[in-house]
Amino acid sequence: MVPGPTVIYECGHCSGLIEYPTIASGNTFGARVWTDGKMDAPMLPDMPLLVKCPHCRSMVWITEQKEVGKMRPWLVDRHPYPSARPYEEPTVDDYVGYLAESDLNADKEFYARVRLWWLFNDGRRYASRRLPLTAREIENLTALLDLMNDDATSEPLGKAEILRELGRFDEALALLTSIPESERSKAVLFLVNLARLGDPYVREYPD
Ligand SMILES: [Zn+2]
Repeated sequence: MVPGPTVIYECGHCSGLIEYPTIASGNTFGARVWTDGKMDAPMLPDMPLLVKCPHCRSMVWITEQKEVGKMRPWLVDRHPYPSARPYEEPTVDDYVGYLAESDLNADKEFYARVRLWWLFNDGRRYASRRLPLTAREIENLTALLDLMNDDATSEPLGKAEILRELGRFDEALALLTSIPESERSKAVLFLVNLARLGDPYVREYPD
């Protein structure tokens, strides 16, 4: 992975400066991909668009903030923006509060809900714990499914995965088997198998 410049943005709420590292080039070598769509790629770090301001703790869409400059990532001894701080990752409570308070368009709501879904699933993903869904997760997944159903371009795979995680296996299977047999990818076959087994947990796709 080759780092790009660190971009300095000004928070639209408090005018505090936020550091946002970028990547000049990366690849998906050694990546782990999960059934909820999350990918962990050591050579291609995640670049979240919705982050928390490190100064006022507001949720901000980082690329919509005013860009005030760029700096080389290794330039640490003479920081040109000494008050700048790295952005913070939102927590579950941050996403839930933000979604409840904000009137987001469908694209932004979709983005925030997918991130919240991944964050909830991290407890199962990395610890292999078989935790049942909480009420907040069910609410999030149901809202996400509604957003996907309203979007004619959304793929059956994502909807089927949500239905599977909600334990609605028959509906997940109906969606997956509606895909013509010649178009069923390995991912589709993997989800079919999990749904037939009655397995509702996020899983890593095999190589
Ligand atoms: Zn701020």
